[in-house]
Amino acid sequence: MRSTFAEPDSLDSELVGFFAEPAAVAAVRQARTERDPRPVYRLLGERRLLAPAWPERLGGRDGSLVQAGAVAEQLAARDVPDLLHVISVQTVGNLLLRGAPESLVTEIVPRLAAGRAFAAVLFTEPGAGSDLSSVITSAIVDDDAVVLHGEKVYGLVTSLCQHGLCLARVEGGRTPYDGLMLVLLDLTTPGVTITPVPSAWADPFHRVGLEDVRVPRGRVVAPPGQAWPLLLRTLALERTGIDYYSRARRWYALARERAEVLEIAGDADVLAALGRFGARLNAARLLAYRTLSALDEGEPPDEMAATSKWYASELAADLAGWTSLRLGGTADDADPLTHLIREAALEAPGMRISGGTSEMMLRTLAGACIGGAG
Ligand SMILES: Cc1cc2nc3c(=O)[nH]c(=O)nc-3n(C[C@H](O)[C@H](O)[C@H](O)COP(=O)(O)OP(=O)(O)OC[C@H]3O[C@@H](n4cnc5c(N)ncnc54)[C@H](O)[C@@H]3O)c2cc1C
Repeated sequence: MRSTFAEPDSLDSELVGFFAEPAAVAAVRQARTERDPRPVYRLLGERRLLAPAWPERLGGRDGSLVQAGAVAEQLAARDVPDLLHVISVQTVGNLLLRGAPESLVTEIVPRLAAGRAFAAVLFTEPGAGSDLSSVITSAIVDDDAVVLHGEKVYGLVTSLCQHGLCLARVEGGRTPYDGLMLVLLDLTTPGVTITPVPSAWADPFHRVGLEDVRVPRGRVVAPPGQAWPLLLRTLALERTGIDYYSRARRWYALARERAEVLEIAGDADVLAALGRFGARLNAARLLAYRTLSALDEGEPPDEMAATSKWYASELAADLAGWTSLRLGGTADDADPLTHLIREAALEAPGMRISGGTSEMMLRTLAGACIGGAG
Protein backbone atom coordinates (compact mmCIF):
# COMPACT_ATOMS: atom_id res chain seq x y z
CA MET A 1 0.00 0.00 0.00
CA ARG A 2 1.31 3.48 -0.89
CA SER A 3 2.32 5.47 2.15
CA THR A 4 0.67 8.88 2.48
CA PHE A 5 2.46 10.14 5.53
CA ALA A 6 6.03 9.92 6.71
CA GLU A 7 7.87 11.37 9.68
CA PRO A 8 11.04 13.40 9.28
CA ASP A 9 13.83 11.06 10.25
CA SER A 10 17.55 11.27 10.88
CA LEU A 11 17.79 14.94 9.93
CA ASP A 12 16.11 15.86 13.19
CA SER A 13 18.93 14.56 15.35
CA GLU A 14 21.57 15.90 12.96
CA LEU A 15 19.98 19.34 13.19
CA VAL A 16 19.86 19.19 16.98
CA GLY A 17 23.60 18.39 16.97
CA PHE A 18 24.29 21.19 14.49
CA PHE A 19 22.48 23.79 16.60
CA ALA A 20 24.51 22.78 19.68
CA GLU A 21 27.82 23.67 17.98
CA PRO A 22 29.45 26.92 19.17
CA ALA A 23 29.43 28.56 15.71
CA ALA A 24 25.72 27.83 15.31
CA VAL A 25 24.92 29.02 18.85
CA ALA A 26 26.65 32.36 18.12
CA ALA A 27 24.93 32.73 14.72
CA VAL A 28 21.51 31.96 16.24
CA ARG A 29 22.05 34.59 18.93
CA GLN A 30 22.96 37.14 16.25
CA ALA A 31 19.97 36.14 14.08
CA ARG A 32 17.59 36.78 16.98
CA THR A 33 19.01 40.14 17.97
CA GLU A 34 19.64 41.54 14.48
CA ARG A 35 16.72 39.83 12.68
CA ASP A 36 19.26 38.64 10.09
CA PRO A 37 19.39 34.85 9.82
CA ARG A 38 21.82 34.74 6.89
CA PRO A 39 24.86 33.58 8.94
CA VAL A 40 22.78 30.67 10.35
CA TYR A 41 21.58 29.77 6.87
CA ARG A 42 25.14 29.85 5.53
CA LEU A 43 26.30 27.42 8.21
CA LEU A 44 23.33 25.16 7.41
CA GLY A 45 24.15 25.48 3.70
CA GLU A 46 27.74 24.32 4.28
CA ARG A 47 26.31 21.03 5.62
CA ARG A 48 23.69 20.82 2.82
CA LEU A 49 21.04 21.20 5.49
CA LEU A 50 19.38 24.37 4.21
CA ALA A 51 17.59 22.66 1.32
CA PRO A 52 18.08 18.92 1.91
CA ALA A 53 15.23 18.00 -0.47
CA TRP A 54 17.12 19.36 -3.46
CA PRO A 55 19.38 17.23 -5.70
CA GLU A 56 22.90 16.67 -4.45
CA ARG A 57 24.41 18.23 -7.59
CA LEU A 58 22.57 21.47 -6.68
CA GLY A 59 23.63 21.62 -3.03
CA GLY A 60 20.97 19.42 -1.44
CA ARG A 61 20.96 15.84 -0.23
CA ASP A 62 18.57 14.17 -2.66
CA GLY A 63 16.16 14.07 0.30
CA SER A 64 12.42 14.61 0.51
CA LEU A 65 10.27 17.60 1.39
CA VAL A 66 9.08 15.61 4.40
CA GLN A 67 12.68 15.42 5.65
CA ALA A 68 13.17 19.12 4.91
CA GLY A 69 10.22 19.85 7.22
CA ALA A 70 12.64 19.25 10.10
CA VAL A 71 14.56 22.39 9.08
CA ALA A 72 11.44 24.57 9.43
CA GLU A 73 10.64 23.00 12.81
CA GLN A 74 14.17 23.45 14.16
CA LEU A 75 14.50 27.08 13.02
CA ALA A 76 11.20 28.04 14.65
CA ALA A 77 12.02 26.12 17.83
CA ARG A 78 15.07 28.37 18.28
CA ASP A 79 13.39 31.67 17.36
CA VAL A 80 15.57 31.99 14.27
CA PRO A 81 13.64 34.15 11.79
CA ASP A 82 12.42 31.67 9.18
CA LEU A 83 10.73 33.93 6.62
CA LEU A 84 13.86 34.12 4.48
CA HIS A 85 13.90 30.32 4.34
CA VAL A 86 10.19 30.17 3.52
CA ILE A 87 10.51 32.72 0.73
CA SER A 88 13.96 32.00 -0.76
CA VAL A 89 14.17 28.22 -0.40
CA GLN A 90 10.66 26.82 0.06
CA THR A 91 8.97 29.15 -2.45
CA VAL A 92 11.41 30.57 -5.04
CA GLY A 93 13.97 27.74 -5.04
CA ASN A 94 11.34 25.04 -5.31
CA LEU A 95 9.54 26.92 -8.08
CA LEU A 96 12.80 27.32 -10.05
CA LEU A 97 13.49 23.60 -9.70
CA ARG A 98 10.06 22.75 -11.06
CA GLY A 99 9.93 25.11 -14.02
CA ALA A 100 12.97 27.27 -14.80
CA PRO A 101 15.33 26.56 -17.72
CA GLU A 102 18.21 24.27 -16.75
CA SER A 103 20.84 27.00 -17.25
CA LEU A 104 19.10 29.22 -14.70
CA VAL A 105 18.64 26.35 -12.28
CA THR A 106 22.34 25.40 -12.35
CA GLU A 107 23.40 29.03 -11.98
CA ILE A 108 21.09 30.10 -9.13
CA VAL A 109 19.83 27.10 -7.16
CA PRO A 110 23.23 25.98 -5.72
CA ARG A 111 23.75 29.49 -4.34
CA LEU A 112 20.32 29.44 -2.70
CA ALA A 113 21.08 26.00 -1.25
CA ALA A 114 24.39 27.26 0.13
CA GLY A 115 22.81 30.31 1.78
CA ARG A 116 25.13 32.47 -0.34
CA ALA A 117 22.28 34.17 -2.21
CA PHE A 118 18.61 34.74 -1.45
CA ALA A 119 15.55 35.45 -3.57
CA ALA A 120 12.46 37.49 -2.73
CA VAL A 121 8.91 37.08 -4.05
CA LEU A 122 7.69 40.10 -6.05
CA PHE A 123 4.12 39.17 -6.89
CA THR A 124 1.76 41.52 -5.02
CA GLU A 125 0.95 44.99 -6.38
CA PRO A 126 -1.20 47.82 -5.01
CA GLY A 127 -4.09 46.50 -7.16
CA ALA A 128 -3.28 42.78 -7.29
CA GLY A 129 -2.99 40.39 -4.34
CA SER A 130 -5.47 37.54 -4.05
CA ASP A 131 -6.09 37.73 -7.78
CA LEU A 132 -2.64 37.71 -9.34
CA SER A 133 -4.10 37.59 -12.84
CA SER A 134 -4.68 41.35 -12.47
CA VAL A 135 -0.96 42.15 -12.14
CA ILE A 136 -0.10 45.21 -14.30
CA THR A 137 3.70 45.52 -13.99
CA SER A 138 4.71 45.58 -17.64
CA ALA A 139 7.33 43.41 -19.32
CA ILE A 140 8.54 44.50 -22.75
CA VAL A 141 10.73 41.95 -24.49
CA ASP A 142 13.44 43.33 -26.78
CA ASP A 143 16.43 41.69 -28.47
CA ASP A 144 18.50 40.93 -25.39
CA ALA A 145 16.42 41.90 -22.38
CA VAL A 146 13.04 42.03 -20.70
CA VAL A 147 12.29 45.59 -19.57
CA LEU A 148 10.17 45.81 -16.40
CA HIS A 149 8.12 48.77 -15.28
CA GLY A 150 5.79 48.83 -12.29
CA GLU A 151 5.49 48.61 -8.53
CA LYS A 152 5.48 45.67 -6.13
CA VAL A 153 4.35 45.84 -2.50
CA TYR A 154 4.26 43.79 0.72
CA GLY A 155 7.54 41.99 0.00
CA LEU A 156 9.15 40.60 3.12
CA VAL A 157 12.94 40.08 3.57
CA THR A 158 13.51 41.85 0.22
CA SER A 159 16.41 43.90 1.58
CA LEU A 160 18.25 40.66 2.51
CA CYS A 161 17.95 39.27 -1.03
CA GLN A 162 20.06 39.56 -4.20
CA HIS A 163 17.30 38.30 -6.50
CA GLY A 164 13.57 38.87 -6.92
CA LEU A 165 11.12 36.55 -8.64
CA CYS A 166 8.84 39.00 -10.43
CA LEU A 167 5.44 38.39 -12.00
CA ALA A 168 4.84 40.79 -14.89
CA ARG A 169 2.64 41.16 -17.97
CA VAL A 170 3.47 41.38 -21.67
CA GLU A 171 1.07 43.09 -24.04
CA GLY A 172 -1.35 41.10 -26.12
CA GLY A 173 -2.14 37.96 -24.11
CA ARG A 174 -5.43 36.38 -25.22
CA THR A 175 -6.54 36.02 -21.59
CA PRO A 176 -5.36 37.75 -18.36
CA TYR A 177 -3.49 34.54 -17.59
CA ASP A 178 -1.46 33.84 -20.69
CA GLY A 179 0.04 37.35 -20.84
CA LEU A 180 1.91 36.78 -17.58
CA MET A 181 5.60 35.97 -17.35
CA LEU A 182 8.04 35.22 -14.51
CA VAL A 183 11.55 36.67 -14.44
CA LEU A 184 14.32 36.51 -11.87
CA LEU A 185 15.89 39.92 -11.57
CA ASP A 186 19.03 41.08 -9.83
CA LEU A 187 17.83 43.57 -7.21
CA THR A 188 20.91 45.77 -7.70
CA THR A 189 19.99 46.48 -11.37
CA PRO A 190 19.63 50.20 -12.18
CA GLY A 191 15.97 51.24 -11.92
CA VAL A 192 15.19 49.04 -8.89
CA THR A 193 14.34 50.93 -5.70
CA ILE A 194 13.64 49.09 -2.45
CA THR A 195 11.85 51.06 0.27
CA PRO A 196 11.15 49.53 3.69
CA VAL A 197 7.59 50.00 4.94
CA PRO A 198 7.02 49.46 8.68
CA SER A 199 4.86 46.49 9.64
CA ALA A 200 3.15 45.88 12.99
CA TRP A 201 6.05 43.67 14.11
CA ALA A 202 9.84 43.51 13.85
CA ASP A 203 10.26 42.73 10.11
CA PRO A 204 9.40 45.54 7.69
CA PHE A 205 7.56 45.11 4.40
CA HIS A 206 9.18 46.50 1.24
CA ARG A 207 7.89 48.44 -1.69
CA VAL A 208 9.89 47.70 -4.84
CA GLY A 209 9.83 50.27 -7.64
CA LEU A 210 10.75 49.02 -11.11
CA GLU A 211 11.61 51.77 -13.58
CA ASP A 212 12.64 50.42 -16.96
CA VAL A 213 14.68 47.67 -15.37
CA ARG A 214 16.58 45.62 -17.97
CA VAL A 215 16.69 41.93 -17.14
CA PRO A 216 18.77 39.67 -19.44
CA ARG A 217 16.57 37.26 -21.39
CA GLY A 218 18.43 34.34 -19.84
CA ARG A 219 16.69 35.28 -16.58
CA VAL A 220 13.21 34.44 -17.87
CA VAL A 221 11.87 31.72 -15.56
CA ALA A 222 8.64 31.15 -17.47
CA PRO A 223 7.57 32.94 -20.67
CA PRO A 224 4.00 34.03 -21.41
CA GLY A 225 1.72 31.02 -21.61
CA GLN A 226 3.88 29.05 -19.15
CA ALA A 227 4.02 31.35 -16.10
CA TRP A 228 0.43 30.93 -14.90
CA PRO A 229 0.41 27.11 -15.15
CA LEU A 230 3.76 27.05 -13.30
CA LEU A 231 2.36 29.33 -10.58
CA LEU A 232 -0.69 27.10 -10.17
CA ARG A 233 1.49 23.98 -10.07
CA THR A 234 3.70 25.45 -7.37
CA LEU A 235 1.12 27.25 -5.20
CA ALA A 236 1.05 24.32 -2.81
CA LEU A 237 4.77 24.79 -2.12
CA GLU A 238 4.15 27.97 -0.15
CA ARG A 239 1.01 26.57 1.45
CA THR A 240 2.22 23.34 3.01
CA GLY A 241 1.57 24.86 6.44
CA ILE A 242 4.86 23.53 7.84
CA ASP A 243 6.26 26.95 8.69
CA TYR A 244 2.98 28.20 10.19
CA TYR A 245 2.69 25.03 12.25
CA SER A 246 6.34 25.27 13.37
CA ARG A 247 5.90 28.81 14.61
CA ALA A 248 2.66 27.87 16.39
CA ARG A 249 4.49 24.98 18.10
CA ARG A 250 7.13 27.41 19.37
CA TRP A 251 4.46 29.84 20.59
CA TYR A 252 2.77 26.98 22.42
CA ALA A 253 6.02 26.28 24.29
CA LEU A 254 6.21 29.97 25.21
CA ALA A 255 2.61 29.90 26.49
CA ARG A 256 3.30 26.88 28.69
CA GLU A 257 6.48 28.46 30.05
CA ARG A 258 4.66 31.70 30.80
CA ALA A 259 1.81 29.86 32.54
CA GLU A 260 4.40 28.16 34.77
CA VAL A 261 6.08 31.49 35.57
CA LEU A 262 2.71 33.00 36.53
CA GLU A 263 1.89 29.86 38.53
CA ILE A 264 -1.45 29.47 36.75
CA ALA A 265 -0.61 26.40 34.66
CA GLY A 266 -3.03 24.38 36.81
CA ASP A 267 -5.97 26.82 36.55
CA ALA A 268 -8.92 25.11 34.93
CA ASP A 269 -9.35 27.57 32.04
CA VAL A 270 -5.60 27.62 31.26
CA LEU A 271 -5.37 23.84 31.41
CA ALA A 272 -8.38 23.46 29.11
CA ALA A 273 -7.11 26.04 26.60
CA LEU A 274 -3.62 24.52 26.47
CA GLY A 275 -5.15 21.09 26.01
CA ARG A 276 -7.27 22.28 23.09
CA PHE A 277 -4.35 24.11 21.45
CA GLY A 278 -2.14 21.05 21.93
CA ALA A 279 -4.66 18.86 20.11
CA ARG A 280 -5.01 21.39 17.28
CA LEU A 281 -1.21 21.54 16.96
CA ASN A 282 -1.06 17.79 16.44
CA ALA A 283 -3.71 18.06 13.73
CA ALA A 284 -1.81 20.93 12.06
CA ARG A 285 1.39 18.88 12.03
CA LEU A 286 -0.37 15.92 10.48
CA LEU A 287 -1.91 18.11 7.76
CA ALA A 288 1.44 19.77 7.00
CA TYR A 289 3.35 16.49 6.67
CA ARG A 290 0.58 14.93 4.59
CA THR A 291 0.84 17.87 2.20
CA LEU A 292 4.64 17.59 2.04
CA SER A 293 4.33 13.87 1.46
CA ALA A 294 1.85 14.38 -1.40
CA LEU A 295 4.24 16.91 -2.96
CA ASP A 296 7.07 14.38 -2.66
CA GLU A 297 4.94 11.91 -4.57
CA GLY A 298 4.32 14.41 -7.35
CA GLU A 299 0.64 14.98 -6.63
CA PRO A 300 -0.74 18.52 -6.96
CA PRO A 301 -2.38 18.67 -3.52
CA ASP A 302 -4.05 22.09 -3.90
CA GLU A 303 -7.03 21.43 -1.62
CA MET A 304 -4.85 19.63 0.90
CA ALA A 305 -2.40 22.55 0.94
CA ALA A 306 -5.23 25.08 1.26
CA THR A 307 -6.60 23.12 4.23
CA SER A 308 -3.18 22.89 5.84
CA LYS A 309 -2.31 26.56 5.35
CA TRP A 310 -5.73 27.71 6.55
CA TYR A 311 -5.76 25.42 9.59
CA ALA A 312 -2.20 26.17 10.74
CA SER A 313 -2.41 29.93 10.26
CA GLU A 314 -5.77 30.21 12.04
CA LEU A 315 -4.40 28.09 14.88
CA ALA A 316 -1.23 30.22 15.14
CA ALA A 317 -3.27 33.43 15.24
CA ASP A 318 -5.75 32.07 17.82
CA LEU A 319 -2.93 30.76 20.00
CA ALA A 320 -0.84 33.95 19.85
CA GLY A 321 -3.92 36.08 20.61
CA TRP A 322 -5.00 33.92 23.54
CA THR A 323 -1.48 33.80 24.98
CA SER A 324 -1.07 37.54 24.78
CA LEU A 325 -4.47 38.24 26.40
CA ARG A 326 -4.46 35.56 29.09
CA LEU A 327 -0.74 35.24 29.83
CA GLY A 328 0.93 38.36 28.42
CA GLY A 329 1.05 40.06 31.80
CA THR A 330 2.18 43.61 32.37
CA ALA A 331 5.92 43.07 32.49
CA ASP A 332 7.91 45.35 30.22
CA ASP A 333 9.65 44.28 27.01
CA ALA A 334 12.95 43.75 28.79
CA ASP A 335 11.59 40.41 29.93
CA PRO A 336 12.55 38.11 27.02
CA LEU A 337 9.57 35.77 27.42
CA THR A 338 7.01 38.59 27.44
CA HIS A 339 8.79 40.20 24.50
CA LEU A 340 8.51 36.99 22.44
CA ILE A 341 4.82 36.64 23.32
CA ARG A 342 4.10 40.22 22.25
CA GLU A 343 6.05 39.76 19.01
CA ALA A 344 4.00 36.64 18.28
CA ALA A 345 0.71 38.47 18.88
CA LEU A 346 1.75 41.21 16.45
CA GLU A 347 3.04 38.85 13.77
CA ALA A 348 0.29 36.24 13.87
CA PRO A 349 -2.59 38.14 12.17
CA GLY A 350 -0.44 38.51 9.01
CA MET A 351 -0.23 34.73 8.79
CA ARG A 352 -3.94 34.70 7.91
CA ILE A 353 -3.04 36.83 4.84
CA SER A 354 0.44 35.85 3.57
CA GLY A 355 0.67 33.07 0.99
CA GLY A 356 -3.07 33.46 0.25
CA THR A 357 -5.71 34.73 2.69
CA SER A 358 -7.89 32.46 4.81
CA GLU A 359 -10.91 33.47 2.69
CA MET A 360 -9.10 32.37 -0.48
CA MET A 361 -8.10 29.06 1.14
CA LEU A 362 -11.74 28.47 2.07
CA ARG A 363 -12.78 29.37 -1.48
CA THR A 364 -10.40 26.70 -2.82
CA LEU A 365 -11.90 24.19 -0.41
CA ALA A 366 -15.47 25.20 -1.26
CA GLY A 367 -14.68 24.84 -4.96
CA ALA A 368 -13.26 21.36 -4.37
CA CYS A 369 -16.33 20.33 -2.32
CA ILE A 370 -18.75 21.61 -4.94
CA GLY A 371 -16.68 20.04 -7.74
CA GLY A 372 -16.48 16.77 -5.82
CA ALA A 373 -20.22 16.70 -5.20
CA GLY A 374 -21.08 17.32 -8.85
C1 LIG B 1 3.01 38.83 6.38
C2 LIG B 1 2.85 39.01 4.91
C3 LIG B 1 3.89 38.68 4.06
C4 LIG B 1 3.76 38.85 2.69
N1 LIG B 1 4.84 38.58 1.89
C5 LIG B 1 4.74 38.82 0.56
C6 LIG B 1 5.89 38.64 -0.29
O1 LIG B 1 6.99 38.31 0.18
N2 LIG B 1 5.75 38.90 -1.60
C7 LIG B 1 4.57 39.30 -2.16
O2 LIG B 1 4.51 39.48 -3.37
N3 LIG B 1 3.46 39.49 -1.39
C8 LIG B 1 3.53 39.27 -0.04
N4 LIG B 1 2.44 39.49 0.77
C9 LIG B 1 1.19 39.96 0.17
C10 LIG B 1 0.10 38.90 0.22
O3 LIG B 1 0.36 37.87 -0.69
C11 LIG B 1 -1.22 39.62 -0.10
O4 LIG B 1 -1.43 40.57 0.94
C12 LIG B 1 -2.38 38.66 -0.14
O5 LIG B 1 -2.29 37.81 -1.26
C13 LIG B 1 -3.72 39.42 -0.18
O6 LIG B 1 -3.71 40.37 -1.18
P1 LIG B 1 -4.19 41.87 -0.89
O7 LIG B 1 -3.42 42.37 0.31
O8 LIG B 1 -4.04 42.63 -2.16
O9 LIG B 1 -5.69 41.78 -0.46
P2 LIG B 1 -6.95 41.63 -1.43
O10 LIG B 1 -6.67 40.58 -2.44
O11 LIG B 1 -7.31 42.99 -1.93
O12 LIG B 1 -8.04 41.10 -0.43
C14 LIG B 1 -8.66 41.97 0.54
C15 LIG B 1 -9.67 41.13 1.31
O13 LIG B 1 -10.68 40.60 0.41
C16 LIG B 1 -10.73 39.19 0.49
N5 LIG B 1 -10.96 38.64 -0.85
C17 LIG B 1 -10.31 38.97 -1.99
N6 LIG B 1 -10.79 38.27 -3.03
C18 LIG B 1 -11.74 37.46 -2.53
C19 LIG B 1 -12.59 36.47 -3.11
N7 LIG B 1 -12.56 36.19 -4.41
N8 LIG B 1 -13.44 35.81 -2.28
C20 LIG B 1 -13.51 36.07 -0.96
N9 LIG B 1 -12.72 37.02 -0.35
C21 LIG B 1 -11.86 37.69 -1.13
C22 LIG B 1 -9.36 38.75 1.02
O14 LIG B 1 -9.45 37.51 1.69
C23 LIG B 1 -9.03 39.90 1.98
O15 LIG B 1 -9.66 39.68 3.23
C24 LIG B 1 2.55 39.34 2.14
C25 LIG B 1 1.49 39.67 3.01
C26 LIG B 1 1.63 39.52 4.36
C27 LIG B 1 0.50 39.91 5.28
